[in-house]
Amino acid sequence: AGPRPDGHPSPSGPASLPTAAGIDRDLLPRAELDVEAALEKVRPLCEDVRHRGTAAVIEATEKFDGVRQERLRVPAEALSRALEELDPAVRAALEESIRRARLVHRDQRRTDSTVRVVPGGTVTERWVPVERVGLYVPGGRAVYPSSVVMNVVPAQEAGVEGLAVTSPPQADFGNLPHPTILAACALLGVDEVYAAGGAQAVAMFAYGTEECAPVQLVTGPGNIYVAAAKRLLKGVIGIDSEAGPTEIAVLADDTADPAHVAADLISQAEHDVVAAAVLVTPSEALAEAVEAELKTQAPATKHSERVAEALGGRQSGIVLVDSLDHGLAVVNAYAAEHLEIQTADAAAWAARVRNAGAVFVGPYSPVSLGDYAAGSNHVLPTGGCACHSSGLSVQSFLRGIHVVDYSKEALADVTHHVVALADAEDLPAHGDALRARFDWKVPEGS
Ligand code: NAD
Repeated sequence: AGPRPDGHPSPSGPASLPTAAGIDRDLLPRAELDVEAALEKVRPLCEDVRHRGTAAVIEATEKFDGVRQERLRVPAEALSRALEELDPAVRAALEESIRRARLVHRDQRRTDSTVRVVPGGTVTERWVPVERVGLYVPGGRAVYPSSVVMNVVPAQEAGVEGLAVTSPPQADFGNLPHPTILAACALLGVDEVYAAGGAQAVAMFAYGTEECAPVQLVTGPGNIYVAAAKRLLKGVIGIDSEAGPTEIAVLADDTADPAHVAADLISQAEHDVVAAAVLVTPSEALAEAVEAELKTQAPATKHSERVAEALGGRQSGIVLVDSLDHGLAVVNAYAAEHLEIQTADAAAWAARVRNAGAVFVGPYSPVSLGDYAAGSNHVLPTGGCACHSSGLSVQSFLRGIHVVDYSKEALADVTHHVVALADAEDLPAHGDALRARFDWKVPEGS
């Protein structure tokens, strides 16, 4: 559907962006997340935190998380106790996850570079970490110690000095974030942790409270209220991409094992009732076999109700395509957060993917591996944002600053060009700023 000639949106709603391959994105399964409605809800919440600080966060937490707190900052003893009491197998797994993530993220570090534009004139690009960041770790339906790793490791590798983590309080754990989250913070050497979730936590970071100094950047995944607060407060703070409810798309042909494809779809449906699980295949036989597998595997999984709702939602489904080329066009148009390629010659198909948060190649690279221990980052753009945004990385925590250094001769040489452009823009004072350095003249020979 496109806009009507009279300029009004067509009756079927706003026009969807046509893609290079002519795929209409509106035809693809996708969650209808009403972030606009959530924005209306979080706006007063954020304003309240801005004006009343900690008291407003505590009140919102009582309302939405059902716990009453005295303070939000997690005491240092709780962090060290959580690490002492951590199951050794979970500790070993977290340590390995951190080790692998460090390997990948350390390699993303940028080095400053200087370009000699002309003799005596250089531009240096300096990469400087953000001074203080707030990292959101979800903890509503599930708790995500893995998200502590995925947020903290790139921030540390970027050289961020001020690092605060927040995660929703849990009534079962003394109104603190889940102990595994606290233990992960302690393992990573993070000692500033808050027990707050949702929009109120994002507002706490953005505006600062009596307990928590304001941050310059908030990163991390979360539910629709977290996404709405990040969208609302963008400008006051920087944000990473909107990492909302999880999505998996699988591009598969009849070489794929239907049991594996079904298990992978279920693994991501387990996150959230609005999580999306989409199979794209030219093989009717595979589609039927995967459907049959889903019917057996889904009811047997622990969170079967949540999984059934996610798989049954309009955001999930099986898309039958004419060929793998057609399927590739579909997954590129969909721009999934996670894209698995389970086809013959998977690496070659993966190389042709343009839009995805992360790509998982072949039968032995399931999304769950990336969720925990591939070394890659799992905070990834959702809702189609992967066509313009990247997942969390060291780059997310850096700013590039151009440092311009010209000598008198190099400036003299270019003055006539600057004056010409300044005059063309009717901003003659710009040209004057150069002429002032040369007795108010345009230097000769320039
Ligand atoms: P969450 O921490 O994001 O949200 C919980 C908070 O929401 C609570 O603390 C509460 O204060 C607030 N809240 C709950 N109901 C509310 C309401 N009616 N009004 C206002 N605030 C309310 O945890 P969650 O809900 O489990 O969501 C986590 C999300 O993160 C899931 O959708 C999951 O798929 C996603 N996720 C995404 C990625 C990614 O990289 N894209 C990674 C991990 C998790």
